[in-house]
Amino acid sequence: MKESVERALAAFAKKGFDTKYFETAAEAAEWLAEQVAEGEEVAFGGSVTLRQLDLAAKITARGGSVINHWREGQTAEERADGLRRPFRHQHYFLSANALTEDGLIYNVDGTGNRVTTAVFGPQQVFVVAGENKVVADINAAVERVRTIAAPKNAARLNKQTPCVKTGTCMNCQSPQRICRVYTVTAFPPYGTKTTIVLIGEELGY
Ligand code: SF4
Repeated sequence: MKESVERALAAFAKKGFDTKYFETAAEAAEWLAEQVAEGEEVAFGGSVTLRQLDLAAKITARGGSVINHWREGQTAEERADGLRRPFRHQHYFLSANALTEDGLIYNVDGTGNRVTTAVFGPQQVFVVAGENKVVADINAAVERVRTIAAPKNAARLNKQTPCVKTGTCMNCQSPQRICRVYTVTAFPPYGTKTTIVLIGEELGY
């Protein structure tokens, strides 16, 4: 395990987060799928990491089901439902844009569904991230989003924003701006068990 990951896991644990570490994405996906009971419906925030883990398919194969507004082929109504309904689910899965070595979760959202559901509603939240998401502190987390996560997400979404061309945030005023809600989770919110799942691989962005 990288020393930075070790420091982050220790800091999160000290603050009352549950923590888990897996060397590989495959091991993490297997454990995460096992946390879902047969017949249970769980919810996902939009996440390249969860896609790379193929977690929705693994949960479905075990007899569970997944509400996921990223699912392809759904109607606009189904997508809107997928954004709003997760508040009432017991289990919510998402990734993070950055996790710091002093135990902060940093996220930037366009719609706000992911960051709000991560802190209120579900009884158990799993924050799943590769070791590439671990940074020293909040300044490094902000920089990581400005130079890596947000430009790559804007490109993935085919946005006409300046960061897609420059590869770094230009703090645009574009109507297509994807960076609209910024959250820092410093301690596990009351009423929600939050588990940090770190993986010794590069996942998502
Ligand atoms: S604020 Fe605009 S330029 Fe900056 S990363 Fe977000 S979408 Fe790109």
